[in-house]
Amino acid sequence: MEPTVVLLGPPGSGKGTQAERLRDELSFATLSTGDLLRAARAAGTELGLRAGEFMVRGELVPDDLIIGVVGEAIALLDGTPVLLDGYPRTVTQADALARALEERGRELTAAVFIDVPDDVVVERISARGQGREDDRPETVRERLRVYHRATEPLVAYYEENGLLRRVDGVGDADAIAAEIRDAIA
Ligand code: AMP
Repeated sequence: MEPTVVLLGPPGSGKGTQAERLRDELSFATLSTGDLLRAARAAGTELGLRAGEFMVRGELVPDDLIIGVVGEAIALLDGTPVLLDGYPRTVTQADALARALEERGRELTAAVFIDVPDDVVVERISARGQGREDDRPETVRERLRVYHRATEPLVAYYEENGLLRRVDGVGDADAIAAEIRDAIA
């Protein structure tokens, strides 16, 4: 069966960067919900307008808004190795993902947790120069709070079903990419 991999980690853990590398190096199709939502906002769609209200505050977009969108996107990727960047972010999303994959005759093959401590996250995001409106320091702090409350429980969730692969996300991007490749091989 073709691999289906989730990248899990706090904001600023390098999920986006690593997802792009794996897409290029291992020919995965990547699905980044953050990119998808930013594109919807830029296009001024109904989804974008509704999601934007939450994104500017550093909050999660409600599950019912995002779950259907991801389900539709996954349905287009039958037969392709898939890497999910930034999804799931709640246990409800993780359950919905499992069901959506099952409907397509596939299942999750690994959940890679890129482990980066909060102080490194704050340093990194301030160093990348606030290009994104949600990279303002107070919004980063809110995104971290939301991460710990809503998303971090997924580490235990995927540990329980044996899918978790933990990778140290502090250090050289090439070394981290190599670790991720080993973890999903
Ligand atoms: P990201 O680019 O992954 O950091 O996502 C940017 C913002 O998009 C997040 O702070 C959330 O507001 C929203 N977002 C992205 N993915 C999700 C998701 N799976 N569930 C809810 N909100 C999301």
